[in-house]
Amino acid sequence: MLVVTKFGGSSLSCASQFTKVKRIIEADAKRKIVVVSALGKRDNSDTKVTDLLYILHAHLKYNVPYEDIWKLIYDRFIAVKTELNLEYDIAIDLDILKLELNKNISEDYLVSRGEYLTAKLMSSYLGYQFVDAKELIIFNYDGTINYEITEKKVKEAFNAYGVMVVPGFYGAYPNGSVKLLSRGGSDVTGSILAKCLTVSLYENWTDVSGIMAADPRIIDNPKSIKEITYAELRELSYMGANVLHEETVFPVQSINIPINLKNTNNPLHPGTLIKNVCEDTSEIVTGLAGKKEFVSFNISKNHMSNEVGFLKKALAVFEKYAVSVEHIPSGIDCFSVVVAKQNVERFKYDILSELKTELGAVVTLDEDIALVAIVGRNMAHKIGLCGKIFKTLGDNNINVKLLAQGPSELNIIIGVAQNDYELVLKVLYDKLMA
Ligand code: ASP
Repeated sequence: MLVVTKFGGSSLSCASQFTKVKRIIEADAKRKIVVVSALGKRDNSDTKVTDLLYILHAHLKYNVPYEDIWKLIYDRFIAVKTELNLEYDIAIDLDILKLELNKNISEDYLVSRGEYLTAKLMSSYLGYQFVDAKELIIFNYDGTINYEITEKKVKEAFNAYGVMVVPGFYGAYPNGSVKLLSRGGSDVTGSILAKCLTVSLYENWTDVSGIMAADPRIIDNPKSIKEITYAELRELSYMGANVLHEETVFPVQSINIPINLKNTNNPLHPGTLIKNVCEDTSEIVTGLAGKKEFVSFNISKNHMSNEVGFLKKALAVFEKYAVSVEHIPSGIDCFSVVVAKQNVERFKYDILSELKTELGAVVTLDEDIALVAIVGRNMAHKIGLCGKIFKTLGDNNINVKLLAQGPSELNIIIGVAQNDYELVLKVLYDKLMA
């Protein structure tokens, strides 16, 4: 049984966090593959090494003196080495990097040094073999991962070393040039390694105890979700819950590897387990999430219901403007098309007038809508749940502007005025989940 264990930047912000990581790795012999982000923030006013490296690159590119920013980066790495008394002489690698700094150094290469150097420190500390991600994660020239080569290389490395630390966030093109994943991409590195080695579990360690059942900026101390399916996670993430890098899920979900989100600062907390199938039925609602800034185009026309192709004509207008449609709540002779505000902001009046002329319909625009998603695999066939939701909203004087429930009954989406958004989350959380 093997576990891939990935640590985010806050779990690696300083020497004392490294100590916690070591304790976690040593507590379970299955944790043989460790993926690290770059040194993260030590507190809220601090800057992540990755961000410092991006800034350093901008200084080089625009020929601005960069000594101060370089020193910040240098000192952060040296501090970890010194405090942990590591054998690895990171000053040599830092000096080499300093010599490589020039106007033409690639941004991807320079920024990837955050993870590279952090992984070298960690490998020295754990006594695990350092394996450069450049040798493992191989991209095609179109930017997709070449799984055939990557899997072969990952297996070879693991068979050769048995225990290894791999820097996250980057790989290389077949010609060896370093390519970054998108921001937060160390999650994806962990997931790719988990898939290539068909491990039994992918652990993702951060500074929170799993996924919160609602946004902690709105709900005081929400509970953390014990188990969640990949499908539920997709619904919550799509509606704004910020959990894992979007591309993390696919490699592991497709071969049924669960992900356990854990807290480096509270390792005994079970965190959240993400799986394809969850047995736990103790909660009806798994989580709440929501987003503001939607607009609704409300389209009505007498006897529209008899006009074949009417909906298609309306959607063609949105397609023309490359606007993705979120929801289409409908009545008999009217329906609404709900879209994200930012996608239509610049041409909403063009769309409005085109809908009017193309369809011969009355079209109005309803702005400032917020959507709230109530998500739960155990919600299907729970008679009375909708009653409870709407009674709660009614008791609190909240007007529901639109409503959608997918056929899988995995989620119920409610559209409300943006001003009611926080209140909706609070009253629903209290009633359904507290
Ligand atoms: N260090 C990178 C970032 O800040 C990648 C990661 O942490 O996953 O985006």
